Amino acid sequence: MHYESTRSTLSGTDTYAVLQGLAPDGGLFLDKTLGSRPFPVQECLKKDSLGMAEMILSYLMPGFENMKALVEKAYTGKFETEDLTPLVKVGNDYVLELFRGPTSAFKDVALSMLPQLMTAARRQEGMAGKTVILTATSGDTGKAALNGFMDVEGTSIIVFYPAEGVSPMQQRQMATQEGKNVTVCSVEGNFDDCQRGVKEAFAALSEKLEGTGVSLSSANSINIGRLAPQVTYYFIAYARLMEEGRIAFGDKVDYIVPTGNFGDILAGYYAKMMGLPVGRLVCASNANKVLTDFLETGLYDRRREFYKTASPSMDILVSSNLERLLYYASQSHEKVKGWMEQLNREGFYQVDEATLKAIQENFSAGCCNEEETMAAIGKVWQEEKYLLDPHTAVAWHVMEQVKAQAEGRPQVVLSTASPYKFPAPVLKALGLTGGQDEFADAEKLNQVTGVPVPGNLSSLRQKPILHKDRIAREEIIPYILSKVAE
Ligand SMILES: *Cc1c(COP(=O)(O)O)cnc(C)c1O
Repeated sequence: MHYESTRSTLSGTDTYAVLQGLAPDGGLFLDKTLGSRPFPVQECLKKDSLGMAEMILSYLMPGFENMKALVEKAYTGKFETEDLTPLVKVGNDYVLELFRGPTSAFKDVALSMLPQLMTAARRQEGMAGKTVILTATSGDTGKAALNGFMDVEGTSIIVFYPAEGVSPMQQRQMATQEGKNVTVCSVEGNFDDCQRGVKEAFAALSEKLEGTGVSLSSANSINIGRLAPQVTYYFIAYARLMEEGRIAFGDKVDYIVPTGNFGDILAGYYAKMMGLPVGRLVCASNANKVLTDFLETGLYDRRREFYKTASPSMDILVSSNLERLLYYASQSHEKVKGWMEQLNREGFYQVDEATLKAIQENFSAGCCNEEETMAAIGKVWQEEKYLLDPHTAVAWHVMEQVKAQAEGRPQVVLSTASPYKFPAPVLKALGLTGGQDEFADAEKLNQVTGVPVPGNLSSLRQKPILHKDRIAREEIIPYILSKVAE
């Protein structure tokens, strides 16, 4: 029973936490014993990437039987590279390519795994009926989750995305999704509206659905089963740096993470708590720099202008996973509950000195505006012939900002998406103009750079549009009810 809510002592097993998604008190499940239980880091670093995943997931979720089989089923043959997440040297720095999975999103690492965990948890808990996965997406989670849960027995999935908030390629990826158990719907609003709608749906519907054989869960990184698989690639990067002779075991490595909902970077903190020698965890934000401000001052304030940027997966003002970090840093359910309630009610909160200090011991922050994003893509292409997507470019820019603090430690930029998901802004960054649609742009980008287009994206062109629903944000709950009733 080592999973507990961030907001109270409400607790449960790991299988229960995966099936629930969100804790019933509105908090997020976390492992209080993380860091106090030993983990054989060096042994783990010697394994191949699937072996690392198995060891790490078995540590984080010991209640799951036969993790090895689950990991193999999730990943074998699904990724385009031998390493799950290859580490590429770019100049004197490193890019960890997280986007080599079936939908060219870093979310594939977690969302290839989550359906396996969910199915295993259902089996172990002897659950009958259906699990309905509710998902809010800023673009990439949606497709990766749809792909992961497509036709998975005992589950169905409903994805909400902001109508004007995703790239044309991302929109196309979701609208063409096949499978008998999938629903895709756009919402007139931004990502925060979608996320709030889904969280409200959990609160409003969980009881209502009791006894109907339908239970709700989430594929967002509020689900611990989504977060845990992401810990693996921090170990992969470290192991590759050791193999290359760039570091010896024990040397610290900095990771620079393009951040939205704070899940990716939090997984780095988990790796550190498990004993991986992580130096600074650098949170990179785009123009929506609510996290940069928070990490510098301790004031989290979402009452500000919302910008639509070329890195839409980071256009977020309420970062859910920060709540888990707040608990680890403050060790207080009451404080976390108070802050979260104040955020909901008034739009801001200020953490105390001690909590801020505990956070700043591990995390740094930086931000990058639109011009700087474009400049980073152009510069890295010209100087290194490496093509960054806009999200990765945000992190690259921030890496350069914080280079002086790195004191010689290797800096690893986490690359979260293929540039071909955002061909129009990438073309623009290279000083070129786009054509009539995302496919023409991708082709042009390919001709100019020679970087191959991932097959899963180019093949979308032939696929029929299957999903056209569009609703107002107030309609999310009734929409879910109508779909559940079907
Ligand atoms: C989801 C996403 C992010 C943000 O990751 P978080 O875990 O939400 O912080 C960054 N870049 C891309 C391309 C993404 O899809």
